[in-house]
Amino acid sequence: ERGRLARLRHAPAITRDGVPIELLANIEQPGDAALALEAGAAGVGLFRSEFLFMGRAGQLPGEEEQYQAYRQAVDGMQGRPLTIRTIDIGADKPLEKHGRDVFLNPALGLRAIRWSLAEPAMFRTQLRAVLRAAAHGPVRLMFPMLAHRQEVTQTLAQVAQARQELQERGVPYGPVQLGAMIEIPAAAIMVDYFLRHFDFLSIGTNDLIQYALAIDRADEAVAHLYDPLHPAVLQLVAQVIAAGQAAGKSVCVCGEMAGDPDMIGLLLGLGLRSFSMHPAQLLTVKQEVLRADTRKLAPWAEQVVSADDPAAVMAQIP
Ligand code: PEP
Ligand code: MG
Repeated sequence: ERGRLARLRHAPAITRDGVPIELLANIEQPGDAALALEAGAAGVGLFRSEFLFMGRAGQLPGEEEQYQAYRQAVDGMQGRPLTIRTIDIGADKPLEKHGRDVFLNPALGLRAIRWSLAEPAMFRTQLRAVLRAAAHGPVRLMFPMLAHRQEVTQTLAQVAQARQELQERGVPYGPVQLGAMIEIPAAAIMVDYFLRHFDFLSIGTNDLIQYALAIDRADEAVAHLYDPLHPAVLQLVAQVIAAGQAAGKSVCVCGEMAGDPDMIGLLLGLGLRSFSMHPAQLLTVKQEVLRADTRKLAPWAEQVVSADDPAAVMAQIP
C-alpha cells in the first residue's frame, strides 16, 4: 500500500472527469516546506506561523529572525506558493509569559487576529517580515479568526502601513495575495463581504465546527458532539465554497476535514478545488481525487448537505 501510494507522489491531482485539484500542505516550521514538496504538495496552504513564537518564554522573534524563517520556507517551496497565516496564539496555543495569558474563556477571548490587532507593533513586525520574504517567491498572506468589519479594515490598514515602513527604510519587499480564514460562523454567513475585501479565502473547519456547535475542540468530555457532518457545519462550508465560486475567487479548506479521505468526495461535490492538509495525508487524499467524478458527486453532495442525517446519505456515495 505504501509503495503504491508513493508512486502517486508526482502524478497530477486530477479527477476522473478532468478537473485539476490543488493539494497543499499544512506546516508548522520553515524546514517543513521542503519536506512538503517532497511529499508531493503543490504548495503550502497553511504555515501556522505561531509555532515560531511558542516556547520562547516571552522573547518574541524580531523582524530579521522572522524574515529568515519565512525566507527559508519560500526558498524551500522552489517557486510554488507559500501561504503564511499570521500568528494565531491563544486558546489551545498559549504564548508563555506574555502578560495577557490569563483568559477567562480563551477560545472566545483575545486570540489570533484579535491579539495581533491589540499588539500592532508586534503585528507589523510580522507583516514586514512576510512582505520581505515575498520578494523571493509567491507568498499568500492570510489572517485567522476574522469576524468583524473593523477587524478587516484594521488588518488591511496594518498591511498598508507595514509596506510603507519598508518603503521608507528602502528595504525590498514583494507582492502578496491577501486572504481571510473563514472559521467563525459569522464570517461564513457574511462571506460576500470577505470576498469583496480579500483575494482568497481559506475555511478553517477545526474552529468553524467548534464555534458553530459550541463544542470546545480540546475538551474530551464533549468530543462525541464535535461533528463535521452536522448539517449546520456542512451548510456553512457549502455556502462559502459556492460564494467563492460565484465570485471567481479561490477557496481552500485547511482544517482537518481537508485531509480526511472520507470527506474528499463531499468537498469535491460541493465545488472545492483546493485542499490543505497534514503532509502525511497528501497521497491518500490524491488517491480519492483520482477516483472521483465531480459530475456524479455534485448532485449527491447537495443531498448530503440538505439531509437531516447527512451521515446516512454519505454512505451512498456514487
Ligand atoms: C482551523 O481552525 O481549521 C485551522 C486550520 O486552524 P487551526 O487548527 O490552527 O486553528
Ligand atoms: Mg483555526
